[in-house]
Amino acid sequence: MATVEEDLSCQELVELVTAYLEMTLPPLEQARFEAHLAICPGCTNYLAQMRETIRLAGMLSEETIPDDGKAKLLDAFRTWKHQHTGE
Ligand SMILES: [Zn+2]
Repeated sequence: MATVEEDLSCQELVELVTAYLEMTLPPLEQARFEAHLAICPGCTNYLAQMRETIRLAGMLSEETIPDDGKAKLLDAFRTWKHQHTGE
């Protein structure tokens, strides 16, 4: 069972999503990532969207996702969250 301090926030999940999709996360991080997905339908949807986006783009690597790209992903996630929560 995951403890509270092991729980990922949604933002942490977004930051890890590229590594998760590349299966480069350490086992512990991957477990935390999947534990969050299990309790967060929003992030499950987000991950599905990311998979689709990456499939369409046809490429994903550490080199093609620089920090600038991560920032854009975070922006996209904030926009998405806003649309879905009305915050
Ligand atoms: Zn979440």
